[in-house]
Amino acid sequence: MKELKKTNLKDFKESWTFCLHCAGCYYRGPNIPHNWLELPPPEWSPPQRKCPSFEYYYFRAYTASGRGNLAAVVFDDNDFPITDDLIKVVYTCTSCGMCSEICRQFQPLTAIWALREELVQRGAKLPEPLDRIHANIEKSGNIFGARRQPKALEEIPTTGENIYFAGCTARFQQPEVIKATVEVLKTAGMDVACLGDAERCCGFVAGHDGNTALLEQQATENIAAFKKAGAKRVIVSCADCYKTLKIDYPLILGELPFEVVHVAELFAKLIDEKKIRFTHEVKKGVTYHDPCFLGRHGKVYDEPRKVLESIPGIKLIEMERSRRWSYCCGSGAKVISNCYPEFSTAITKERLVEGKQAADTIVTACTSCFNIMDKAVRKQGMELEVCDLSTLVAEAMGIEL
Ligand code: SF4
Ligand code: SF4
Repeated sequence: MKELKKTNLKDFKESWTFCLHCAGCYYRGPNIPHNWLELPPPEWSPPQRKCPSFEYYYFRAYTASGRGNLAAVVFDDNDFPITDDLIKVVYTCTSCGMCSEICRQFQPLTAIWALREELVQRGAKLPEPLDRIHANIEKSGNIFGARRQPKALEEIPTTGENIYFAGCTARFQQPEVIKATVEVLKTAGMDVACLGDAERCCGFVAGHDGNTALLEQQATENIAAFKKAGAKRVIVSCADCYKTLKIDYPLILGELPFEVVHVAELFAKLIDEKKIRFTHEVKKGVTYHDPCFLGRHGKVYDEPRKVLESIPGIKLIEMERSRRWSYCCGSGAKVISNCYPEFSTAITKERLVEGKQAADTIVTACTSCFNIMDKAVRKQGMELEVCDLSTLVAEAMGIEL
């Protein structure tokens, strides 16, 4: 994001004049060549409902195109009034990346993130409770403001080459994901360590809210802790952490002295190497929800499917919107779930209904997606199971959680 300001942004206004307001990114799809250097292949036919904020608010202001126009006028005028309405338009973007997937020439989401960064630098009042979350990260090193190290990590050594970075959501809300991941890796013969008390929030929420200074601070502290722990490989369960560590940290601080892998990638590799062996059949029809930050942003689509298809008894059925056309789970980079709960609930419901049409179990590979979908299923009493990939793998290996 720092890179974005240094490079893309100075050309932003000029390039934005090429936005033809074609509605490709929220309505028509990439049907005309200016979104691409050439016509997209026929299989690049996106779903009917694309941009969650447009589908909910139904004004063009709430699209990538509308927000890009807003960015152009804000960047052009240092005194442009920052009203509550402007903040709402800018912060109701889910950061899902569908618009940039469609409009490859302009990558409009980068303009929205740059606009958020600009607003933070101008001292804008962010939607509640983002300031509180940022204060929690600064004071306690996690988004919840929790003071105590979670029990699930207490038994794990704090030095080693393979460092499991659990992330805030798993650390404080999903101990079963931590246990499943660590036990699967240990059973596969790996030594796994963690950062213990030194693990700090990756900075994802801060970075995607426009507070890139806080993201940089988190990156600096975590990288120092990884080095001190002797990390050669950092393993994450959360798609948000994955995007932040894998893509944003190198943009901010240069090449990392360790590899960053998502558990889905590592599980797939260990299955190939016959180090993960499945001993129990899991008779389930499942569908896989591609997390936006693992799929569209991280381009990891095949590995989680490969893991699922390797489990005896599992039948994988795709949702209508999958892979590059996957739909947001409602978390919306944790901005939507925290600041606009009604909008968030509507998105989650839409995704769960779609999942239920495909199968009785939705599997995901992100603790944030799992968290929001699992809570919604329980609250709404839906007959649908939501699973994290790690717990399903543990079950198929006969690991008791
Ligand atoms: S951002 Fe791209 S797809 Fe969206 S309206 Fe502009 S040119 Fe069309
Ligand atoms: S990132 Fe998603 S919600 Fe935001 S403008 Fe693009 S398509 Fe819409």
